[in-house]
Amino acid sequence: MTLIKYINKKKKKSQAPENEVRGLEMLLLDAVKKKGCPICSSTASHDKKYFSWFPMEIYHEPDFLEKIRSSYGFCTRHGAFLDQQRQLLPQLNFVHDHVAQKVCDKLYLYLSGQEKDLFLLFPDPSDCPVCASSKTSTKRFLWFFHKLIKEGRALKDYGHPGIMCFRHFMEFSEKASHEVIQQLIPKHEKAIASAVHAMENAGSSMISAGIKSDACRTGMELSVGPAFNTEDLVWLHRIYCRNPGMDPVSDFITSLENKTACPVCLEQYAAMSQWINWLDNYKVSGMDDIDQLTGVLPACREHVLACVNLGRPDLQFAAVYAALKAAWTSTLIAAKKLKKLQERNNTPVWQKLTKKDKNPGENSRIDIREAVTSPIRCPVCERINKAEQRALDLLFALLESPRHQKTFENGHGLCINHFIKAVKHAPYDDIRNFLIRVESAKLSFLKWELDETMRKMAWDTRPEPKGSEQSAWHRGFAVFSGLPPDNCQQK
Ligand SMILES: [Zn+2]
Ligand SMILES: [Zn+2]
Ligand SMILES: [Zn+2]
Ligand SMILES: [Zn+2]
Repeated sequence: MTLIKYINKKKKKSQAPENEVRGLEMLLLDAVKKKGCPICSSTASHDKKYFSWFPMEIYHEPDFLEKIRSSYGFCTRHGAFLDQQRQLLPQLNFVHDHVAQKVCDKLYLYLSGQEKDLFLLFPDPSDCPVCASSKTSTKRFLWFFHKLIKEGRALKDYGHPGIMCFRHFMEFSEKASHEVIQQLIPKHEKAIASAVHAMENAGSSMISAGIKSDACRTGMELSVGPAFNTEDLVWLHRIYCRNPGMDPVSDFITSLENKTACPVCLEQYAAMSQWINWLDNYKVSGMDDIDQLTGVLPACREHVLACVNLGRPDLQFAAVYAALKAAWTSTLIAAKKLKKLQERNNTPVWQKLTKKDKNPGENSRIDIREAVTSPIRCPVCERINKAEQRALDLLFALLESPRHQKTFENGHGLCINHFIKAVKHAPYDDIRNFLIRVESAKLSFLKWELDETMRKMAWDTRPEPKGSEQSAWHRGFAVFSGLPPDNCQQK
């Protein structure tokens, strides 16, 4: 290579990040000129890109393997998507085998007495690698967007019409400067007020149109953001698990007996499906009916999406309105605090008083930030968390009897996530040791099947028939992602 060529190559290399920055900025500046959330639209294709690289590059990289070990597999949402990708059998088999091996190693350390601290052996799961990558990408866009607003390059167009959904505005405000937050609050106040007004004045025909009505769609975009990705929605079709019986203990024992999914996961899916079914059966004709549902409608993106994609149009409308109203409440509190701060700053007494203060009004600014970053309560999330706790408590109670221990042993057993929670909180050593023994046996068996599948992929094993071990990668999703079985899709 000549020296000139070498210098040009170096130059090109050092310019690459600059080009990338320009590309990101252009994307955001373009997005803010369009309707909707510029962060949602800029990050919409993340998962698609990730999964396009996954089969060739990502799945065996040390960085990915380290992440998947600390998350103990894919999350439910990404697991549900990957579970449908049969063409990825070799890669997913390899990933599940890797996680199974690492968990088995840890269980061996415990069972052989080399490490008895379960909190050290099994730290709480971190984000799944796809979620972690998506969060990093979102943080990056938020950082650049903050820069563009601060420099005034995106401020003029902000709210005309592009504006962050409240979910991203909350995340943005965690790191944004006080000045930037204060510039954006009036814009959010104006946009959300107009969306709330449009929904509150909707007639029965608009309510019965659900998400198809403009007011409802705008309400969703401003509160939790739109649903772009099919990956976002796949898991929803797996949530309806079982018809509720009248005896919760017998229901749970039935879950213990099933051989295809974790009984605690099934309780959580059942809790969610019962809640959404109840809402779906509640006829909403006007705003008074929605008021009656205060405190039971979801507020997080995941569960608003569940209502929008699975519910009747009037539930779609009610769920979006509740999410928008929650965003509206936080925005109003912040706007009021901001107004008070601005009025006080203009009074001569205050100016005199704060002359010596290095950061006058700092507490008020912290209050404003807090108003737009405080988590919004979602009753469906609360119900699911409670269902998990109640199911684990019932499991501990049942496992005191040898009869139910046998049932548990013959069933599917716990997913890794619930196994970790259960062993850390088991009331007695007997129950803890029993759970560890069962999990170790079941995982070792799954690992054998995953290994067998990989062995039979070799060219020189062609004469060997392929058996049920070929579906071990798929069954791995119940163990590592807590997915319910396919046949639990009844509504
Ligand atoms: Zn957004
Ligand atoms: Zn994930
Ligand atoms: Zn589970
Ligand atoms: Zn929720």
